[in-house]
This record gives sequence, structure tokens and C-alpha cells, in this order.
Amino acid sequence: PGPLRVLYKDYRTATPQNFSNYESMKQDFKLEIPEHFNFAKDVLDQWSSVEKAGGRLSNPAFWWIDGNGGEVRWGFEELGSLSRKFANILTEACSLQRGDRVMVILPKIPEWWLANVACLRTGTVLIPGTTQLTQKDILYRLQSSKAKCIITDDALAPAVDAVAAKCENLTSKLIVSQHSREGWGNLKEMMRHASDNHTCVNTRHNEMMAIYFTSGTTGHPKMIGHTHSSFGLGLSVNGRFWLDLTDSDVMWNTSDTGWAKCAWSSVFSPWIQGACVFAHYLPRFEQTSILQTLSKFPITVFCSAPTAYRMLVQNDTISYKFKSLKHCVSAGEPINPEVMEQWRRKTGLDIYEGYGQTETVLICGNFKGMKIKPGSMGKPSPAFDVKILDENGAILPPGKEGDIGVQVLPERPFGLFTHYVDNPSKTASTLRGNYYITGDRGYMDEDGYFWFVARSDDVILSSGYRIGPFEVESALIEHPSIAESAVVSSPDPVRGEVVKAFIVLNPDYKSHDQEQLKKEIQEHVKKTTAPYKYPRKVEFIEELPKTVSGKVKRNELRKKEWKTI
Ligand code: ATP
Ligand code: MG
Repeated sequence: PGPLRVLYKDYRTATPQNFSNYESMKQDFKLEIPEHFNFAKDVLDQWSSVEKAGGRLSNPAFWWIDGNGGEVRWGFEELGSLSRKFANILTEACSLQRGDRVMVILPKIPEWWLANVACLRTGTVLIPGTTQLTQKDILYRLQSSKAKCIITDDALAPAVDAVAAKCENLTSKLIVSQHSREGWGNLKEMMRHASDNHTCVNTRHNEMMAIYFTSGTTGHPKMIGHTHSSFGLGLSVNGRFWLDLTDSDVMWNTSDTGWAKCAWSSVFSPWIQGACVFAHYLPRFEQTSILQTLSKFPITVFCSAPTAYRMLVQNDTISYKFKSLKHCVSAGEPINPEVMEQWRRKTGLDIYEGYGQTETVLICGNFKGMKIKPGSMGKPSPAFDVKILDENGAILPPGKEGDIGVQVLPERPFGLFTHYVDNPSKTASTLRGNYYITGDRGYMDEDGYFWFVARSDDVILSSGYRIGPFEVESALIEHPSIAESAVVSSPDPVRGEVVKAFIVLNPDYKSHDQEQLKKEIQEHVKKTTAPYKYPRKVEFIEELPKTVSGKVKRNELRKKEWKTI
């Protein structure tokens, strides 16, 4: 029996999950890794059979809207047939072989999902990239990834053509466009003539499936290698436990196609559960469109980034009555308890925070039925043994801050990357004793909940105290004047370093006396959290530096502080 058969039997249930008993939930998840595994064949095609046999609701497998009335709905059957045509184009017209790398830089259009599945079917290695890449970024990525094929649209084809001569591995180019372009295969045109007769490659579970670039919050994005089982099967943990999905759900995740988060919540996790992947072609984040889409479509599960929730709760012009929505999740950065509270007040729904990395599947999460402690990342996902470690790799007791580590020896868990591609020293540096070191700091409380303190580099050391920016930022956002903030270390002749807050004010407060406001804010933080954490320095700015996926780049602010000493 294929793996889905096991998953299907155990996990297909239309009733809401209840994970209030954490221990039994962990035991519930025993997934054996088969020698061969291919998500297209073992998951999608099996859902297709279930669908054909009338065993699935009429829910589409894929539901896409363009925001202007354009709409695409596919069942698993159609997804199968179209992706097989695409697969034939990759192997025939593009002459790609199993293991060859394919870079896909497309906005949220249906062809992006087809490209994902076509790569799975052909055993080619998908490398997604965000459409916000510049010509220089594309050159860096094509060269470093040694991609043989690139798939993009009209917007970025000129940038690719400008650098293609410098990419010696690049042999084929496909464009998603209404028009033909010299030197490029026109995908839409080719799809019209391609056969949908294709046999899926029988990939081994540990064969490379995809390479994802990290978000680049702390520097150059790193290339992360994932296998067919690490993400294809591993992300079932997210789908079942954190996203709480069944085949009657419609899941909408707003993240960009360029990040692993999109693989997490817009491809593998929903489809392994047989849920519908909902997508909205939104080139930019627009609060109004997001809230309207949540009202208009029967979306049941919503996933977004903290930065998006922070913006959404500021909108008071739109009703937050979403008739189908029942589960909201957030990941990528810590989410401030104040934002969770405002979301709950407006929608009646909690935000279930999850924590993970491009390198991993869900590491910690809040699960349905479990008590949520606002500000905590929840408990370890059933896929991993997660511990707080000291610098020698010893396990620290509850309450002690240390490095968040995932046990990888003697047995490497599934759901973990294989390596940083072409960077063995970086890969080796993440191993300490029997643990993979995430690079994040945190602690576990007496109840087994994990709390994020900071990325290791973001911790502020002031007069002997260790201060995590997130706690200070969460205190700051409770003040009515503050839309968002970033807290970093700043040099100080006496204390070595002190806490500095960069603050973006709500529009109503921009005209206030800034000195007065600064004092008020400092007093507020002293009252809401331990006084030594208050920002001795405050600077008001128009906007925070962020990555494409909306993460605050504290290291940029920090570098600026330390250079001006
Ligand atoms: P880079 O590695 O290139 O600097 P990045 O670490 O931001 O970028 P991702 O893999 O997208 O790239 O993000 C993973 C990181 O995001 C985690 O290591 C952690 O620092 C942060 N993160 C994710 N979820 C949470 C969360 N719920 N709470 C706190 N931090 C989180
Ligand atoms: Mg990282």
C-alpha cells in the first residue's frame, strides 16, 4: 500500500482534531518512510483515484482567483492531467533528466503549481525563486544552483536573457506568456499540444526533490536541499497537526511563491490531507483584498505572516465576519500577543503560531485543543525531539535560555534538510553533539511550552543582562501610538550595549511632540516588562527594513548603529 493509503485511513476525518492530549498526539504519528516515495504518484494520484471513486467531497484540489473575476478550479484529476503534460514538456522539449535542476520564478499563477508537480513527476529538482529578484540576484541564483532550465514570465524574461550567456548550465527556457519570445518555449502553447500520457519517475525517498533559498534575513540566502521524503512526506506533520486540515478544508496561505513557506502551506501540507489549495494572485500585500477574499470565499484555514496580521488588525473599515474561517495560523517570525488579542477580538479566532525553518518542517506549534499561551511557539511537533542546549550540547532545564536544537543522532528524523547545497562547512557547523542547532535562542517552561527569545545574533547584552528583542517589541506594540518596531543593540560607553527601539508610529501620532512621546513609550515599557529591558534609545522611522517575505532585518539596523559609534 502507498503511504497515502496509511495516511488516508488514519487521517481522513471531517471532525475537528483535538490535540489536548499532547502525549497521545505524539504517539499517533508514526510514519514509516518507504524506500521509494513520490508525492505526485503516492499522494496526488491517489487522491485522484479517491476523487474518481466519489470518495471525496466536491471540493476542488486547486482554486485560484486573480481578483478581477478570473478563476481556475481543478480537481485532482485535472491537476494530474495538466501536470503530466507539463512533465512531458520538461523531458521532451527541454530534454531534462532526473536530477536536473529547474528554476521557477513565477508569481502566484496556476502554472507555478503545475511546475511543482511536473518536477515531481520527472524527478527534476525544483528551485523556486521570488519574482522580486533583480537581474543580479537571478545571475547569482542561476550560477550557484547550476540550473539547466528556467521557467518565468514576461516580467523577468529580459533579466534572464541579459545574464543567460554567463550561465553555462542553462540549456532551456520556458515562458508563461500570451506572446512568443525568441529563444524561449511558450508554455501555454506547448501545453496545447503535449500528451498527458506520462509515467511518474519512481524516486527514492532520499533523492533530492527541491532546493529552497532561505529568506535572507541575516545575509545572503542559503540553498537548502530537501528530499522527496523530507518535505514530500515530512510536511504531513504540518498538514495534520498544525493546520488541522481534512479533505473538506479550503486552505489559503498568503506567502510568496519564492519561499519554502509556500511549499509548506500551499503545496504539500494541504494536498497530503486532500484539502483544497486556495490561491489569490495578489502581486502586493493589500489588506482590503485579503479581508474581502476571506469574507467572499469559503476559506476555512488561513496562514499568514506576523507582519501581515499586524497590518490586518489595523484595518477598521471592513467587517471581520468570515463565515467559513475556523483556523488561523502564523509563522516566520514571532507574533506579538497584542496582535493575537486584537485578531481574536475582531474575528473570534485565535492565531495558532508555528515555528520552523526552510531547513525543517514544523519544529514547534500550537495545536487544536491545546491551551494557547500567547507569545509561546507551543510544543514540539511530533516529527522532532526538540531541546534547549548549552554551548557544549548539554540539555538545559526548564526556564533556562539556550540554543534551540533538534535531535539528529543516532537517528536523523525525517522532515529535516539534507545539507546546505555546496556548503559542507556551513552544514557541519550546525551540528553540536547529537543535535542540529537552529541558530535560534529560546527556553522551555515547566509545562513543556517553547518560547522564542531571539535569533542568536539578535540577543542584546546590556549590563550583564541578556535581552531578546521580541519581548521588548511585544511590550512596545501594546502602546497605542506604535504600529510596529524593531529592537536592536546600540553601543554605549558604560553598559557596552543598550536597547534601542526603531519605531513606526500609527498615523494619528505622527504630529505629536516626539520627545514627550518617547518618554511616555519608555515609561510604558518599564511598566509592562522588566524595567531593565526598556529602550534607552528610541528613534522614530517611516518604515522598517524587511525581507521580501516581510521579516524585519534587525541586522541592518544593528550594523548602522555600530558603525556610527
Ligand atoms: P536566513 O536564514 O537567510 O537569514 P531566515 O532564517 O529568515 O533567513 P527562513 O528559513 O525563512 O529564513 O526562516 C526561519 C527563521 O524564522 C527561524 O530560524 C526563526 O528565526 C524565524 N521564525 C520562524 N517562525 C518563527 C516563530 N514562530 N517565532 C519566532 N521566530 C520564527
Ligand atoms: Mg535561517
